[in-house]
Amino acid sequence: MLDSEKNPLQSVLKTLDKISSFIQIHLSNFMVPSPSPSTKSPLFSLYHSSKLNPWDRDSLPSIPLKDTKEKSAGPVSKEELGRATWTFLHTLAARYPDNPTRQQKKDVKELMAILTRMYPCKDCADHFKKVLSGNPVQAGSHTEFSLWLCQVHNVVNRSIDKPIFPCERVEARWGKSECPERECDVLGSTIDF
Ligand code: FAD
Repeated sequence: MLDSEKNPLQSVLKTLDKISSFIQIHLSNFMVPSPSPSTKSPLFSLYHSSKLNPWDRDSLPSIPLKDTKEKSAGPVSKEELGRATWTFLHTLAARYPDNPTRQQKKDVKELMAILTRMYPCKDCADHFKKVLSGNPVQAGSHTEFSLWLCQVHNVVNRSIDKPIFPCERVEARWGKSECPERECDVLGSTIDF
């Protein structure tokens, strides 16, 4: 006599066990560490190909996190910190108003000055202080600030042998995204102090 004939509950439990194993096997396919560069997808190789103009990467479709950067749970590296900070600064510039108030102009200047004192990479902060002394903040309008930021980012790029970004593409790279009722416009206030 078969087990299932002896006890129908046993048969149900066996089926559930099979389903559970199936789900575990398939989920684990999504969680394995990313493969070595030689086995990565063609898109991944294209994305990282040094033959491409590096800025062309921006127009490629986004690639899932597990394929591009290892997820780190510890302190961030100098590169990660830099990338995140530039993202913040260029996004801020993209939202910076065409006609900023006196307070807004003062705030961005202060923000840059604070970076030269408090940016959590001392060498970078010291270097940025020199960069700013040769390139005082220009924040008279949205265009002025975005271009100024692009240029100082390029000064940093040059100093660490990174490619120079074409500043005429800064709007295309960081330009205003759709933000209902300007809710992500951190500098949206028109109140002058
Ligand atoms: P990032 O330079 O971080 O740029 C991020 C993205 O911004 C790029 O992928 C690109 O799409 C875009 N981009 C690049 N250049 C421009 C530009 N000119 N205008 C607009 N968009 C652009 N690292 C050091 O080793 N030494 C330093 O002295 C140093 N100083 C730094 C000072 C500051 C204020 C900051 C914020 C970072 C500094 N860094 C420094 C870090 C360094 O600039 C990079 O952030 C880091 O090396 C990672 O580089 P990345 O190639 O990911 O691109």
